[in-house]
Amino acid sequence: MRLVFLGLAGAGKGTQAKTLSEKLGVAFISSGDMFRHHLAQGTELGKLAKGYMDKGEMVPDEVTIRMILDRINQGDCQKGFILDGFPRTLNQAKALERALGDAPVDRVLYIKVGEEELVRRLAGRISCRTCGTPYAQQMLADDAKQCPRCGGELYQRADDQPEVVRRRLQVQWPEVQGLADFYGRQRKLVEIDGERPVEQVEEELVKAIDRVG
Ligand SMILES: [Zn+2]
Repeated sequence: MRLVFLGLAGAGKGTQAKTLSEKLGVAFISSGDMFRHHLAQGTELGKLAKGYMDKGEMVPDEVTIRMILDRINQGDCQKGFILDGFPRTLNQAKALERALGDAPVDRVLYIKVGEEELVRRLAGRISCRTCGTPYAQQMLADDAKQCPRCGGELYQRADDQPEVVRRRLQVQWPEVQGLADFYGRQRKLVEIDGERPVEQVEEELVKAIDRVG
């Protein structure tokens, strides 16, 4: 079972993808975590990526895809995987398709949330200074000062201000829509209403998986 999660920032797809991976017993692959791992461990791919980043350049899709293929070949991916954070562009989707060859993505789960709701959610977002994990305010205790994951300091990023959030969404939206169209034409796309309560979104996702294959 090979799944990709799609959605704008703040749609809750990271959290949903992780929960679903535990339910299905498949690996959860966050492209952000994967990058941080390679950079922190100083792997060959990590060094390659860092070379581009140090020059202020985008890391080429080929490097990211090599990281994904390397990850997919690990034992915990035998039953499948859920990919979160990649692809973000149509070119990346096409490159991923070529790389996966005859074991392609089975389903793409698109968690749809409207702009107003996203701004409301993101403007209340708090991040960890150490590991970068973002948290919704309501996920944390009112007096939480430390990251539940690593103990790092929590803070509100400047780019989680409402107007900045709106501009970011306007840039992301055409890309997400392009990906939705691409996977829609392949009949792999399942749209989920992400504005409903978390438990209902989880149920919808499980139903969508049952329709796989
Ligand atoms: Zn942390």
